[in-house]
Amino acid sequence: DGHTPFSQLQAAMGPRLTTKTGQGDAVVFWMRMQDMRIRDNRAFGQASEYARQHGLPLIALFILSPQDYVAHDRSARRIDFTLRNLTHVKESLAELNIPLRVITHSPRNTLPERVVEILSEWNAARLFANIEHEVDELRRDIRVFLTKDGRGYTVYSPFLRSWLPHLTDNSDPLACAPRVESNDPTVRQHPIFGKFFNAAGPESVEGFELSGEDAKMMRLCWPAGEDAAHEILRRFLQTKARTSQFGAADPLALGASEPKAGLKDSRIGKYKDARDRVDADTTSRLSAYLSAGVISARECIRATLALSNHKQPKIDASRDTGIGRWVQELAWRDFYTHVLALFPRVSMGRPFQETFAKVSWETNEAHLQAWKDGRTGVPIVDAGMRQANKMGWMHNRLRMITAMYLVKDLMIDWRLGEKYFMETLIDGDLASNNGGWQWSASTGVDPVPYFRIFNPYTQSKKADPSGDYIRYFVPELGKVFGDEIHNPSPRLAEKLGYPTPLVKHDEARQRAIRRYKNPGDV
Ligand code: FAD
Repeated sequence: DGHTPFSQLQAAMGPRLTTKTGQGDAVVFWMRMQDMRIRDNRAFGQASEYARQHGLPLIALFILSPQDYVAHDRSARRIDFTLRNLTHVKESLAELNIPLRVITHSPRNTLPERVVEILSEWNAARLFANIEHEVDELRRDIRVFLTKDGRGYTVYSPFLRSWLPHLTDNSDPLACAPRVESNDPTVRQHPIFGKFFNAAGPESVEGFELSGEDAKMMRLCWPAGEDAAHEILRRFLQTKARTSQFGAADPLALGASEPKAGLKDSRIGKYKDARDRVDADTTSRLSAYLSAGVISARECIRATLALSNHKQPKIDASRDTGIGRWVQELAWRDFYTHVLALFPRVSMGRPFQETFAKVSWETNEAHLQAWKDGRTGVPIVDAGMRQANKMGWMHNRLRMITAMYLVKDLMIDWRLGEKYFMETLIDGDLASNNGGWQWSASTGVDPVPYFRIFNPYTQSKKADPSGDYIRYFVPELGKVFGDEIHNPSPRLAEKLGYPTPLVKHDEARQRAIRRYKNPGDV
């Protein structure tokens, strides 16, 4: 989350660019698909400050790079969300008299040259951008999070302790974003930059179009823009959790009619005990917004400070309170980004723990497809996968259950599941998704040990005790009540047209332990 001065890009590119005048005609802020916000955006704030000091117009640039999206298995939903957020960004920028230029560029390996070309056309004085750790593997700014012996963290708890102070210490440049200045309104008459205000942005990216029905659902579930993100956060902090809202498509509707709740009764207040329940709206549902940078983790943390009982607001990161647990979850996201930036091989198909590189996997296409379609015969797994297919989102507990089922019960390579999640989820994030999959597959940093294998039926009873969640997403089981909802008998399943389980859990568990213990054995 640093900024890359233009001179650094220039140095990286060689002496191909020279500005026409010493000072240049504009300052450029290059917005990426991970930082689509105006508030608390460091590179944007600093670009704005630089433009003000030098009396230059600030121009925003966004580059759509379809080949990058293919390379990173980005979902059409995520790309559509990017485009929708761009519309909001454009409006907010226009209010500040800042034009936004959106271009589409292929092939991906010539993207730096294209940027240099644009900067040259505009005679730009400086370029500012936040680092995309996951794509560029730029490690420079990670120095602030190195351990005392100069290495990166591979264990979560010490990372958390190092991460916390950076979020509120106002003397730390990482913690405070500079003010954003409005451009001189005469930029609207500028022969090149003025035209950008009226240029319509692309409505879709080739190869990433959504069906009409899916587009409608995504708009309902995940309204775009910073205001929507802040409202979702506000309701998480200030209203009560409601049961039977897990399927509510519109997160803004969640808690909409609820009176304001105090900390104790709010969703964040109950988060410590209720967060693993999937049969209510127990979590924030902010992941799509955090992944696209529509809201920053710092803004989330600061909002929780306002709820703090301490005289001197301080971050609560204890495991014993709702706020503390939520703050810890936010840290997991940055922890996985840190791991990806330090060990890029993890997202290039390598297990972090190389000992498990030789584990033998089943290549059963029918099983993989049944898992994707939510037809494994294990109700909680199927409900989770069907929710992901429909809404582009799943609760964390369900991601763990469905991932562990694919890897340990079906013994299918975790990389295939990782890819499917990226292609399906609206919040698909290289680092968190890889971290979650390598955790579930026991191959990652700080993972679940390979012999601790979830029993999906026990997990189901804990996460969805009433069975409401399963009944909602697996309508074949809509009339099944009691314990049988978690594990219907073959006779009942057949009668209802629901599949019988693909594998027997106990046998599959033994197979997984054997193969992990002796990588290479079949
Ligand atoms: P909340 O419980 O409200 O948490 C707040 C925020 O903290 C989340 O929005 C997210 O940004 C962060 N967070 C919470 N839990 C985790 C976690 N375990 N790891 C990393 N960050 C976390 N999250 C993604 O954003 N994108 C992904 O592609 C993704 N893939 C995952 C794949 C697997 C197999 C697993 C097990 C987890 C994955 N996660 C991913 C993490 C987590 O499941 C989601 O962030 C969470 O379910 C989002 O719901 P929420 O916003 O309501 O979370």
